Amino acid sequence: DDPYMIKILDKSKEENAMDLWYTENHQEDVKFSIKVKEHLHSEKSEFQQLDFFTSDTFGKFFTLDGLMMVTEKDEFIYHDMITHVSMAVNPNIKRVLVIGGGDGGTAREVLRYPGVEKVDMVEIDERVVRLCQKFLPLTAEKLDNDERLTLYFEDGLKFVQDADSESYDLILVDSTDPIGPGEGLFTYEFYNNCKRVLSEDGILINQHESPYYSSYSHEMKRSHSKIKETFPIAKVYQFHMPTYPSGHWLFGFASKKYDPIADLKADEWNALGLKTKYYNTDIHVGAFMLPTYVKDELENV
Ligand code: SAM
Repeated sequence: DDPYMIKILDKSKEENAMDLWYTENHQEDVKFSIKVKEHLHSEKSEFQQLDFFTSDTFGKFFTLDGLMMVTEKDEFIYHDMITHVSMAVNPNIKRVLVIGGGDGGTAREVLRYPGVEKVDMVEIDERVVRLCQKFLPLTAEKLDNDERLTLYFEDGLKFVQDADSESYDLILVDSTDPIGPGEGLFTYEFYNNCKRVLSEDGILINQHESPYYSSYSHEMKRSHSKIKETFPIAKVYQFHMPTYPSGHWLFGFASKKYDPIADLKADEWNALGLKTKYYNTDIHVGAFMLPTYVKDELENV
């Protein structure tokens, strides 16, 4: 009776022995599964269904409404790419707003910069933060021990509506997909408020779905067309995310002033000496070079 688990008879074991698998539909007829060692926790919050698991290959991982959010094995890819691209374009960023990101991985990366003076993190669901603090200290470790960070448990859409103009240098939207609580974070209203709330040299990075399967590329095109109408500079960059549908995922980069390649401060960023496992200033340039079918789809929105 657990909607996200399937039990598969393992013929290699004794008769009737069952293997437990976490299974996610990536398309109607495509499924992705991870063999589960233990289903650590399951609960329904005011906003969504939360599940925590442990596995051999991906370590601990958690899902919201049956969709993969974070695994211990590949979180570094997502969190490096959501954070360091903007910081290498403007290493003077001081005031950061993180929207979503309840696992804490994005806040953890941005707090590695000594020049960052304040990080406000707005997560709609406090239970995500509390459970990640319990089960995923790898990503949540900085959520309660850095005085530059303030946590707000409210809707990010409402938060940017109420925020002062030009009060942040960087907004990182680490959201779920545009269904359920994340829906408002893919609207004109939200992007316009982000533009207003950002300083003249501010940068917006947002979760931009995947180009590969049509249900996701539809959302990619919808959000790109809205951001392109809102910001004078709107680009998309890619990275490899093994546990997300198709493994090919995107972030959007939008700014009133900076081009992500022409304004990359590679020497300045490298001089900071931050150790990163995925991001480097070569991959920064490469990530904006998109496959032809993705370029075509984005140009025609
Ligand atoms: N890396 C993940 C991915 O792309 O699958 C996203 C991880 S993070 C856990 C996403 C978070 O966004 C969730 O914890 C969810 O509660 C939060 N969220 C969704 N809608 C939100 C909203 N309107 N305001 C603030 N946070 C929101």
